[in-house]
Amino acid sequence: MGIIVEGAIVDVDGPRRGYVRFHRGQVVEVGAPGTDSTRGRIRRVRGIVVPPPVNGHTHLGDAVSDREPPHRPIDEIVRPPDGYKFRLLAETPAAPKRRAMRSALRRMQREGVAATLDFREEGRSGVELLRAAGAGTGVRTVVFGRPLERPIRRKEVDRLLAVADGIGISSALEEPFEVRRALADACRRAGKYYGLHASEVRRELPETYLAPRPDLLVHLTFATRGDLEAVVQSKTTVAVCPRSNALFGRRPDLAMFADVGVRTMLGTDNAMFHAPSMLREIEFAYVTARLARRPVPPGFLVRAGYIEPWLFLGKPQWARVEAGGPGRPIAFRLPAEDPEYQLATRATEHLIVRPGPRGP
Ligand SMILES: [Zn+2]
Repeated sequence: MGIIVEGAIVDVDGPRRGYVRFHRGQVVEVGAPGTDSTRGRIRRVRGIVVPPPVNGHTHLGDAVSDREPPHRPIDEIVRPPDGYKFRLLAETPAAPKRRAMRSALRRMQREGVAATLDFREEGRSGVELLRAAGAGTGVRTVVFGRPLERPIRRKEVDRLLAVADGIGISSALEEPFEVRRALADACRRAGKYYGLHASEVRRELPETYLAPRPDLLVHLTFATRGDLEAVVQSKTTVAVCPRSNALFGRRPDLAMFADVGVRTMLGTDNAMFHAPSMLREIEFAYVTARLARRPVPPGFLVRAGYIEPWLFLGKPQWARVEAGGPGRPIAFRLPAEDPEYQLATRATEHLIVRPGPRGP
Protein backbone atom coordinates (compact mmCIF):
# COMPACT_ATOMS: atom_id res chain seq x y z
CA MET A 1 0.00 0.00 0.00
CA GLY A 2 2.91 2.33 0.62
CA ILE A 3 3.03 5.40 2.78
CA ILE A 4 2.20 9.08 2.54
CA VAL A 5 4.68 11.57 3.92
CA GLU A 6 2.94 14.89 4.45
CA GLY A 7 4.65 18.09 5.44
CA ALA A 8 7.36 19.61 3.28
CA ILE A 9 9.32 18.86 0.13
CA VAL A 10 12.79 20.29 -0.42
CA ASP A 11 14.36 19.83 -3.83
CA VAL A 12 16.01 21.71 -6.70
CA ASP A 13 12.95 23.98 -6.86
CA GLY A 14 13.37 24.94 -3.19
CA PRO A 15 11.25 24.19 -0.11
CA ARG A 16 7.46 23.93 -0.24
CA ARG A 17 4.49 22.39 1.58
CA GLY A 18 3.24 19.14 0.16
CA TYR A 19 2.79 15.40 0.42
CA VAL A 20 4.49 12.52 -1.31
CA ARG A 21 3.08 9.02 -1.70
CA PHE A 22 5.70 6.28 -1.83
CA HIS A 23 5.16 2.78 -3.10
CA ARG A 24 8.05 0.29 -2.90
CA GLY A 25 10.57 3.08 -2.58
CA GLN A 26 9.25 4.94 -5.61
CA VAL A 27 7.40 8.25 -5.64
CA VAL A 28 3.97 7.64 -7.17
CA GLU A 29 2.14 10.85 -6.25
CA VAL A 30 3.08 14.39 -5.22
CA GLY A 31 0.73 17.23 -4.37
CA ALA A 32 -0.47 19.98 -2.06
CA PRO A 33 -1.28 18.94 1.54
CA GLY A 34 -4.69 17.31 1.99
CA THR A 35 -5.28 16.63 -1.71
CA ASP A 36 -4.06 13.03 -2.04
CA SER A 37 -6.17 10.44 -3.84
CA THR A 38 -6.20 7.76 -1.14
CA ARG A 39 -8.90 9.24 1.19
CA GLY A 40 -7.15 8.11 4.34
CA ARG A 41 -6.72 4.49 3.32
CA ILE A 42 -2.97 4.37 3.64
CA ARG A 43 -0.55 5.14 6.42
CA ARG A 44 0.34 8.79 6.77
CA VAL A 45 3.24 10.38 8.63
CA ARG A 46 4.50 13.93 9.07
CA GLY A 47 7.85 14.56 7.49
CA ILE A 48 10.14 16.13 4.92
CA VAL A 49 10.94 14.56 1.54
CA VAL A 50 14.26 15.27 -0.18
CA PRO A 51 16.40 13.86 -3.00
CA PRO A 52 18.96 11.37 -1.68
CA PRO A 53 22.18 12.96 -0.40
CA VAL A 54 25.53 12.50 -2.16
CA ASN A 55 28.87 12.49 -0.39
CA GLY A 56 30.91 15.01 -2.37
CA HIS A 57 34.37 13.86 -1.28
CA THR A 58 35.69 10.72 0.35
CA HIS A 59 38.85 8.65 0.62
CA LEU A 60 37.18 5.38 1.55
CA GLY A 61 40.42 3.42 1.36
CA ASP A 62 41.37 5.16 4.62
CA ALA A 63 38.63 3.20 6.38
CA VAL A 64 41.30 0.56 7.06
CA SER A 65 42.28 2.61 10.12
CA ASP A 66 39.96 3.50 12.96
CA ARG A 67 42.51 4.82 15.42
CA GLU A 68 42.86 8.44 16.43
CA PRO A 69 45.04 10.01 13.73
CA PRO A 70 48.40 11.39 14.90
CA HIS A 71 48.41 15.02 16.06
CA ARG A 72 50.57 16.16 13.20
CA PRO A 73 50.01 18.59 10.34
CA ILE A 74 47.58 17.23 7.76
CA ASP A 75 50.12 17.33 4.95
CA GLU A 76 52.46 15.00 6.88
CA ILE A 77 49.61 12.53 7.32
CA VAL A 78 48.19 12.45 3.80
CA ARG A 79 51.18 13.43 1.66
CA PRO A 80 51.95 10.96 -1.13
CA PRO A 81 53.82 8.71 -1.50
CA ASP A 82 55.00 7.97 2.06
CA GLY A 83 52.78 9.93 4.50
CA TYR A 84 51.10 8.05 7.38
CA LYS A 85 48.02 7.10 5.36
CA PHE A 86 49.99 5.87 2.35
CA ARG A 87 52.06 3.59 4.57
CA LEU A 88 48.84 2.26 6.10
CA LEU A 89 47.34 1.62 2.67
CA ALA A 90 50.51 -0.11 1.48
CA GLU A 91 50.65 -2.32 4.59
CA THR A 92 47.03 -3.47 4.35
CA PRO A 93 46.20 -6.42 2.05
CA ALA A 94 43.43 -6.07 -0.51
CA ALA A 95 40.78 -8.18 1.26
CA PRO A 96 40.59 -6.21 4.53
CA LYS A 97 40.79 -2.99 2.53
CA ARG A 98 37.81 -4.02 0.45
CA ARG A 99 35.87 -5.06 3.58
CA ALA A 100 36.58 -1.72 5.26
CA MET A 101 35.40 0.23 2.21
CA ARG A 102 32.32 -1.96 1.91
CA SER A 103 31.28 -1.39 5.51
CA ALA A 104 31.75 2.39 5.05
CA LEU A 105 29.52 2.24 1.95
CA ARG A 106 26.88 0.23 3.81
CA ARG A 107 26.82 2.81 6.55
CA MET A 108 26.30 5.52 3.94
CA GLN A 109 23.48 3.52 2.38
CA ARG A 110 21.70 3.26 5.73
CA GLU A 111 21.70 7.06 5.86
CA GLY A 112 20.16 7.28 2.41
CA VAL A 113 23.31 8.33 0.54
CA ALA A 114 22.96 7.35 -3.13
CA ALA A 115 26.45 8.14 -4.43
CA THR A 116 29.91 9.09 -3.28
CA LEU A 117 32.68 10.94 -5.13
CA ASP A 118 35.80 9.16 -4.00
CA PHE A 119 39.47 10.01 -4.57
CA ARG A 120 40.92 6.51 -4.74
CA GLU A 121 44.64 6.14 -4.47
CA GLU A 122 46.71 3.13 -5.57
CA GLY A 123 46.27 3.32 -9.32
CA ARG A 124 44.01 1.11 -11.38
CA SER A 125 43.89 -1.69 -8.83
CA GLY A 126 42.76 0.83 -6.19
CA VAL A 127 39.84 1.81 -8.42
CA GLU A 128 38.92 -1.82 -9.09
CA LEU A 129 38.98 -2.59 -5.38
CA LEU A 130 36.52 0.21 -4.61
CA ARG A 131 34.23 -0.89 -7.45
CA ALA A 132 34.22 -4.40 -6.00
CA ALA A 133 33.52 -3.01 -2.52
CA GLY A 134 30.59 -0.97 -3.83
CA ALA A 135 28.88 -3.76 -5.75
CA GLY A 136 25.43 -4.43 -4.34
CA THR A 137 25.61 -1.71 -1.66
CA GLY A 138 23.16 0.63 -3.43
CA VAL A 139 25.72 3.45 -3.31
CA ARG A 140 27.13 4.48 -6.66
CA THR A 141 30.89 4.93 -6.51
CA VAL A 142 32.06 7.85 -8.65
CA VAL A 143 35.76 7.10 -8.61
CA PHE A 144 38.54 9.61 -9.20
CA GLY A 145 41.60 7.39 -9.63
CA ARG A 146 45.23 8.38 -9.32
CA PRO A 147 48.03 7.16 -11.61
CA LEU A 148 51.15 6.03 -9.79
CA GLU A 149 53.95 6.57 -12.29
CA ARG A 150 55.92 9.82 -12.54
CA PRO A 151 56.65 11.03 -15.13
CA ILE A 152 53.14 10.33 -16.39
CA ARG A 153 52.88 7.49 -18.87
CA ARG A 154 50.01 7.61 -21.32
CA LYS A 155 49.49 3.86 -21.12
CA GLU A 156 48.94 3.84 -17.36
CA VAL A 157 46.60 6.84 -17.55
CA ASP A 158 44.49 5.24 -20.30
CA ARG A 159 44.28 1.98 -18.37
CA LEU A 160 43.20 3.91 -15.28
CA LEU A 161 40.56 5.91 -17.13
CA ALA A 162 39.16 2.75 -18.64
CA VAL A 163 37.84 1.82 -15.16
CA ALA A 164 37.62 5.19 -13.33
CA ASP A 165 35.16 8.08 -13.68
CA GLY A 166 38.04 10.51 -13.65
CA ILE A 167 41.34 11.43 -12.04
CA GLY A 168 41.78 13.08 -8.64
CA ILE A 169 45.26 14.22 -7.69
CA SER A 170 46.73 15.42 -4.44
CA SER A 171 47.27 19.10 -5.29
CA ALA A 172 49.20 21.58 -7.39
CA LEU A 173 51.74 21.71 -4.54
CA GLU A 174 52.77 18.12 -5.28
CA GLU A 175 52.08 17.87 -9.00
CA PRO A 176 53.79 20.24 -11.47
CA PHE A 177 51.92 21.92 -14.29
CA GLU A 178 53.04 19.41 -16.96
CA VAL A 179 51.61 16.52 -14.95
CA ARG A 180 48.32 18.35 -14.32
CA ARG A 181 48.11 19.33 -17.98
CA ALA A 182 48.67 15.77 -19.19
CA LEU A 183 46.11 14.35 -16.77
CA ALA A 184 43.47 16.99 -17.45
CA ASP A 185 43.90 16.47 -21.21
CA ALA A 186 43.54 12.73 -20.83
CA CYS A 187 40.35 13.20 -18.80
CA ARG A 188 38.96 15.60 -21.38
CA ARG A 189 39.68 13.17 -24.21
CA ALA A 190 37.98 10.34 -22.32
CA GLY A 191 35.01 12.50 -21.27
CA LYS A 192 35.88 12.04 -17.59
CA TYR A 193 36.34 14.26 -14.54
CA TYR A 194 39.55 15.93 -13.45
CA GLY A 195 39.79 17.08 -9.84
CA LEU A 196 42.33 18.13 -7.22
CA HIS A 197 42.68 19.41 -3.67
CA ALA A 198 43.41 23.14 -3.40
CA SER A 199 44.18 25.72 -0.70
CA GLU A 200 43.91 23.12 2.05
CA VAL A 201 47.10 23.68 4.07
CA ARG A 202 47.71 27.24 2.94
CA ARG A 203 46.41 29.66 0.35
CA GLU A 204 47.30 28.78 -3.23
CA LEU A 205 46.77 31.08 -6.17
CA PRO A 206 43.69 30.35 -8.27
CA GLU A 207 45.72 30.65 -11.47
CA THR A 208 47.62 27.55 -10.31
CA TYR A 209 44.76 25.23 -9.44
CA LEU A 210 42.44 26.57 -12.15
CA ALA A 211 44.97 25.85 -14.92
CA PRO A 212 44.22 23.47 -16.46
CA ARG A 213 40.58 23.95 -15.55
CA PRO A 214 39.33 21.25 -13.18
CA ASP A 215 35.79 19.90 -12.91
CA LEU A 216 36.11 19.57 -9.15
CA LEU A 217 38.15 21.32 -6.48
CA VAL A 218 38.34 20.03 -2.93
CA HIS A 219 38.64 22.21 0.22
CA LEU A 220 39.54 25.84 -0.65
CA THR A 221 39.78 26.32 3.12
CA PHE A 222 42.17 29.26 2.71
CA ALA A 223 40.54 30.84 -0.34
CA THR A 224 39.90 34.57 -0.27
CA ARG A 225 36.75 36.18 -1.64
CA GLY A 226 38.66 37.02 -4.83
CA ASP A 227 39.81 33.41 -5.16
CA LEU A 228 36.22 32.18 -4.81
CA GLU A 229 35.08 34.68 -7.43
CA ALA A 230 37.67 33.27 -9.83
CA VAL A 231 36.38 29.76 -9.09
CA VAL A 232 32.80 30.83 -9.81
CA GLN A 233 33.98 32.44 -13.08
CA SER A 234 35.59 29.15 -14.10
CA LYS A 235 32.32 27.26 -13.37
CA THR A 236 34.16 24.75 -11.22
CA THR A 237 32.32 22.89 -8.44
CA VAL A 238 33.92 22.76 -4.99
CA ALA A 239 33.62 20.02 -2.35
CA VAL A 240 34.23 21.23 1.21
CA CYS A 241 34.93 19.01 4.22
CA PRO A 242 34.30 20.99 7.43
CA ARG A 243 34.85 18.15 9.95
CA SER A 244 38.09 17.07 8.33
CA ASN A 245 39.34 20.67 8.26
CA ALA A 246 38.32 21.19 11.90
CA LEU A 247 40.42 18.25 13.05
CA PHE A 248 43.44 20.27 11.92
CA GLY A 249 42.24 23.59 13.30
CA ARG A 250 40.72 25.03 10.14
CA ARG A 251 37.33 26.10 8.85
CA PRO A 252 36.09 26.92 5.35
CA ASP A 253 34.14 30.19 5.42
CA LEU A 254 30.87 28.83 4.05
CA ALA A 255 29.08 32.15 4.59
CA MET A 256 31.44 33.57 1.99
CA PHE A 257 30.95 30.56 -0.31
CA ALA A 258 27.19 31.18 -0.13
CA ASP A 259 27.59 34.90 -0.64
CA VAL A 260 29.85 34.54 -3.68
CA GLY A 261 27.65 31.79 -5.11
CA VAL A 262 30.16 28.94 -5.27
CA ARG A 263 28.70 25.65 -6.54
CA THR A 264 29.32 23.72 -3.36
CA MET A 265 29.08 20.09 -2.26
CA LEU A 266 29.93 18.64 1.15
CA GLY A 267 32.23 15.70 1.73
CA THR A 268 33.34 13.64 4.70
CA ASP A 269 36.94 13.26 3.42
CA ASN A 270 39.35 10.70 4.91
CA ALA A 271 37.46 7.74 6.35
CA MET A 272 40.20 7.25 8.97
CA PHE A 273 39.15 10.53 10.62
CA HIS A 274 35.33 10.33 10.70
CA ALA A 275 32.34 8.18 9.97
CA PRO A 276 31.23 9.07 6.42
CA SER A 277 27.98 10.64 7.68
CA MET A 278 26.52 13.40 5.55
CA LEU A 279 23.93 14.19 8.22
CA ARG A 280 26.68 14.92 10.73
CA GLU A 281 28.72 16.83 8.16
CA ILE A 282 25.82 19.16 7.39
CA GLU A 283 24.98 19.74 11.03
CA PHE A 284 28.62 20.35 11.93
CA ALA A 285 28.96 22.85 9.08
CA TYR A 286 25.90 24.71 10.29
CA VAL A 287 26.87 24.79 13.97
CA THR A 288 30.53 25.70 13.48
CA ALA A 289 29.56 28.56 11.18
CA ARG A 290 27.37 29.88 13.99
CA LEU A 291 30.18 29.28 16.46
CA ALA A 292 32.52 31.39 14.33
CA ARG A 293 29.84 34.10 14.06
CA ARG A 294 29.83 33.58 10.31
CA PRO A 295 26.41 31.92 9.97
CA VAL A 296 25.62 30.08 6.77
CA PRO A 297 22.01 29.71 5.57
CA PRO A 298 20.78 26.14 6.23
CA GLY A 299 19.32 26.13 2.72
CA PHE A 300 22.83 26.49 1.30
CA LEU A 301 24.02 23.41 3.20
CA VAL A 302 20.95 21.38 2.23
CA ARG A 303 21.58 22.29 -1.37
CA ALA A 304 25.23 21.26 -1.00
CA GLY A 305 24.30 17.87 0.42
CA TYR A 306 21.16 16.95 -1.51
CA ILE A 307 20.94 18.98 -4.72
CA GLU A 308 24.21 20.33 -6.12
CA PRO A 309 25.90 16.91 -6.53
CA TRP A 310 23.13 15.74 -8.86
CA LEU A 311 23.73 18.77 -11.07
CA PHE A 312 27.47 18.06 -11.00
CA LEU A 313 26.82 14.44 -12.00
CA GLY A 314 24.61 15.55 -14.90
CA LYS A 315 21.48 14.02 -13.33
CA PRO A 316 19.24 17.00 -12.59
CA GLN A 317 16.14 14.78 -12.45
CA TRP A 318 17.61 13.13 -9.38
CA ALA A 319 17.55 16.54 -7.63
CA ARG A 320 13.76 16.67 -8.02
CA VAL A 321 10.94 15.06 -6.06
CA GLU A 322 8.37 14.09 -8.67
CA ALA A 323 6.00 11.23 -9.40
CA GLY A 324 7.53 8.70 -11.77
CA GLY A 325 10.89 10.47 -11.81
CA PRO A 326 14.12 8.51 -12.11
CA GLY A 327 15.36 9.48 -8.63
CA ARG A 328 14.74 7.81 -5.29
CA PRO A 329 13.83 10.50 -2.77
CA ILE A 330 14.04 9.77 0.95
CA ALA A 331 11.99 11.12 3.86
CA PHE A 332 12.76 12.22 7.40
CA ARG A 333 10.27 12.29 10.28
CA LEU A 334 10.67 15.98 11.01
CA PRO A 335 8.46 19.04 11.52
CA ALA A 336 7.47 20.78 8.30
CA GLU A 337 8.16 24.27 9.60
CA ASP A 338 11.39 25.79 8.34
CA PRO A 339 12.27 22.50 6.58
CA GLU A 340 15.82 23.45 5.54
CA TYR A 341 16.68 24.18 9.16
CA GLN A 342 15.21 20.83 10.25
CA LEU A 343 17.26 19.03 7.60
CA ALA A 344 20.44 20.84 8.60
CA THR A 345 20.15 20.29 12.34
CA ARG A 346 17.70 17.49 13.19
CA ALA A 347 17.88 14.93 10.42
CA THR A 348 20.00 12.37 12.31
CA GLU A 349 18.20 9.08 13.04
CA HIS A 350 14.90 10.26 11.58
CA LEU A 351 15.02 8.51 8.23
CA ILE A 352 11.62 6.97 7.61
CA VAL A 353 11.57 6.23 3.91
CA ARG A 354 14.71 4.45 2.82
CA PRO A 355 16.17 4.72 -0.64
CA GLY A 356 14.37 2.77 -3.30
CA PRO A 357 16.08 0.07 -5.34
CA ARG A 358 17.04 2.04 -8.46
CA GLY A 359 20.64 3.17 -8.70
CA PRO A 360 21.78 6.52 -10.10
ZN1 LIG B 1 40.68 14.60 -0.13
